Amino acid sequence: METPNRKPRIVTDVPGPRAQEVIARDARFTSPSYTRDYPIVAASGKGCWLTDEDGNEFLDFTAGIAVCSTGHCHPKVVEAIQAQASRLLHMSGTDFWYAPMANLAERLAATTAWGVDDTRVFFTNSGTESVEAAFKLARFATGRKRMIAFQGAFHGRTFGSLSLTGSKISQLRGFTPLVPGVQHVPYGYCYRCAYNLKYPSCALHCVTTLDDSLFASTCPPDEVAAIIVEPIQGEGGYVIPPPGYLEALRELTRRHGILLIVDEVQSGFGRTGKMWAYEHTDAVPDMITSAKGIASGMPLGALLTRKDLMNWPPGSHATTFGGNPVSCAAALATLDLLQDGGLIENAATVGEHLIGRLRDVQQRHPCIGDVRGQGLMAAIELIDAPSSADRAPVPSAAPPLARELFPGRNAERRDRIVHAAFSKGLLLLGCGRNAIRFCPPLVVSKGEVDTALDILSECLDETA
Ligand code: PLP
Repeated sequence: METPNRKPRIVTDVPGPRAQEVIARDARFTSPSYTRDYPIVAASGKGCWLTDEDGNEFLDFTAGIAVCSTGHCHPKVVEAIQAQASRLLHMSGTDFWYAPMANLAERLAATTAWGVDDTRVFFTNSGTESVEAAFKLARFATGRKRMIAFQGAFHGRTFGSLSLTGSKISQLRGFTPLVPGVQHVPYGYCYRCAYNLKYPSCALHCVTTLDDSLFASTCPPDEVAAIIVEPIQGEGGYVIPPPGYLEALRELTRRHGILLIVDEVQSGFGRTGKMWAYEHTDAVPDMITSAKGIASGMPLGALLTRKDLMNWPPGSHATTFGGNPVSCAAALATLDLLQDGGLIENAATVGEHLIGRLRDVQQRHPCIGDVRGQGLMAAIELIDAPSSADRAPVPSAAPPLARELFPGRNAERRDRIVHAAFSKGLLLLGCGRNAIRFCPPLVVSKGEVDTALDILSECLDETA
């Protein structure tokens, strides 16, 4: 997939005249709720490269928000879509049958820790619907009502998923009341530990406190249906919890008869160098929610769970479009490329290169407080210079690592870096309070990573 030495090509002001025309028309007719960070008007794409309406060529390290897993318009995915589209576009898989849905369910079942014969799949069109399905099934299967989710988590925007989301106030404001019975607790975010502790001496306080405090005071554990957790928090800042975190949650949930749902909408489908991010741990969840990269850009999602848990009867949950045959065909081609075509391996090896290069860049740029990542799910977290006025106050009793524990929260520079990168032909996305994420398509090469990081370095210099 590599195009040796290819560099971004910016031939007009960005946005150029055609892009400006699209943006102006869009502004007149589409919802103002969309969050467009910078004016890229995509016209076509191939691999990691995107061309805008004016012929400007960008290196895409967003993959359409971690969706275009096999790159833009992978020929094998396009071929599978075209072949399926000419045969059958739709026949509502919740009312009738077609082979691509059964074939994909079998292939997905073979990816889980429960094994192919003990897995059941419910298909959806999106991440939020996969989470809704998990929420509903958790209540149905356990007869319990409460849920536990994490601060910083993003699980979607429909009412059930939004109730579990703990990411940004702008996503909640004006929409309450949400589904009752959801408790949000701090995530295992060591860089900004909510308890001001340090791993490993903290002994995973962020998990043990559920037993010691939450379950002893406001939330009876035998009323909790499930804990939903992102193995790596996505929108929350590509936050990787400390070693043993997911295992500790698993032990706690098992002890209380609580289900463990891993939301792999962003971290799954090969992005971290394994099929599912939970596979980097020894924890085995009860449910997996998936979407985004599953079908390389076609709308599809899935809830995977243990056969014994998916005990709801006909009519209890269904969807007209979920598991659409064309999306299933795209997902089957995606799986072929990930598993047999080596893209999961590529995510692991190129991801390691990416994280290594980010650490090099960090050496030269003290504004990068943290570099973290697993495979091609990597981020830098920015901090303000120690002299900066907007740096959060450090308590007098603060430990020596106070600079790390109380990093600046002003994301203005982060946004300037992302904009500067765009104007130089590199597409990036922010996430979390003050982080920049790197989630290129899994076909990305080391050369393309080097190109991206050279541009990032220039932007860091220019915005210093
Ligand atoms: N869950 C996670 C972890 C996500 O990152 C997202 C989207 O970013 C969702 C759920 C919601 O997915 P969608 O936007 O497809 O509804």
